[in-house]
Amino acid sequence: MPTYDFVVVGGGIVGCSVAWQILQSEPGATVMLVEKEQSFAAHQTGHNSGVIHAGIYYAPGSLKARLCKEGSAATYAFCDEHGIAYERCGKLLVATNEREMERMQALYARGLQAGLDCELVSEAELRRREPRISGQGAIFVRSTGIVNYRQVTAKMAELFTAQGGKVTLGSRVTAIAERAGHVDVRTSTGPLRARQLIVCAGTQADRMARLAGLDVDFAIVPFRGEYYRLPPALNDVTRALIYPIPDPELPFLGIHLTRMIDGSVTVGPNAVLGFAREGYPRFSVDLKDLWELATFPGLWKLLPGQWRNALHEFSNSMSRAGYLEECRKYCPELTVADLQPYPAGIRAQAVSRRGELIHDFLIKKTDRMTHVCNAPSPAATSAIPIGRHILDGLLAREAVPPPAAEAAAGAH
Ligand SMILES: Cc1cc2nc3c(=O)[nH]c(=O)nc-3n(C[C@H](O)[C@H](O)[C@H](O)COP(=O)(O)OP(=O)(O)OC[C@H]3O[C@@H](n4cnc5c(N)ncnc54)[C@H](O)[C@@H]3O)c2cc1C
Repeated sequence: MPTYDFVVVGGGIVGCSVAWQILQSEPGATVMLVEKEQSFAAHQTGHNSGVIHAGIYYAPGSLKARLCKEGSAATYAFCDEHGIAYERCGKLLVATNEREMERMQALYARGLQAGLDCELVSEAELRRREPRISGQGAIFVRSTGIVNYRQVTAKMAELFTAQGGKVTLGSRVTAIAERAGHVDVRTSTGPLRARQLIVCAGTQADRMARLAGLDVDFAIVPFRGEYYRLPPALNDVTRALIYPIPDPELPFLGIHLTRMIDGSVTVGPNAVLGFAREGYPRFSVDLKDLWELATFPGLWKLLPGQWRNALHEFSNSMSRAGYLEECRKYCPELTVADLQPYPAGIRAQAVSRRGELIHDFLIKKTDRMTHVCNAPSPAATSAIPIGRHILDGLLAREAVPPPAAEAAAGAH
């Protein structure tokens, strides 16, 4: 059986970041990256807004807050080193009513606490900077930028293979068995053995963890993020990215105007409960996904507190006029005709059995396995330090093998 020091499952940005950094740090190691699709970045990584987040939203002390801030700097440095196009265009979080003005102050305080370069902008100053955007005030976050994460991922994969890493595309992991000194992995293209297994499976994270025998107390709930693209005549509608002030209870940032690195402007994404983890067309239903969702107690505990939001998102998904109203709050000139089709993305959001949205990144470890269980936004921004964080854990375990320590290291 082919045997490797490390097997990484998942060719999104997190898996590629881990695989590349393993070989950077351990040049002689044997590493295999397994991806079920025929290309890298086929799911979340290739269907996102392309924003390099600064980290203003995240709870102080959380992994998200730390790894996003580090990830923003690391992403810019990676792009500089490898000639990948990006733009540090900054972002305006625009408050359009009194309640949002209050939330804006709390968010601004959080930004300052996180040590971010952000400033409060008055209504008049907002109009001066962005004449086509209206609001009562805003926060400007200078270090936010844009990039194409498919390109970043492709470069990580290229660096990985150039250092001797092996890749098998079109290979689905179907069984995982952790033994005393290794992990046996069954895939659709044959069996593999790994000294350490790292699983970065995005929307399939809970299934992979269950397959591996972990005690899984959460499920991945797919939230569709539906976008529109503005017509090319509106590509100059804004200079910075324009975001609403988000609801602090939700992990989603609200429909925003995003300049893409190719010069176009997208509107979105919304956050609609999805019935297929990998079905991108509207109304996609996967019966297995739907059954697991319907029988997951956490969803039924989450919904009573969220039904108003869920209905609002669903009705805006069904009606372009409703969707438009969200954007017209801060960009009143937009019309229904300006909302042109653009592919949706699907977020992998972990929800606990108690019905709580898990906000922070969640990584579970056993002696021989590391499972990335929750890596929603800003995990594209944070992918380099997430990879480093996983690697540090792996190297610590590999370097210190006393039996007592190994026995104590259960899943957490
Ligand atoms: C609509 C949307 C907008 C977003 N906007 C941003 C943004 O602007 N900035 C930002 O930082 N983040 C953003 N995010 C979040 C970001 O895209 C994700 O957090 C990040 O891409 C997660 O990467 P990943 O590698 O964990 O997952 P993925 O990219 O989903 O990759 C997981 C991979 O695992 C593979 N896989 C799964 N199961 C198996 C199996 N059994 N065998 C083999 N392979 C398997 C899948 O095929 C997939 O390729 C956004 C996400 C969405 C959906």
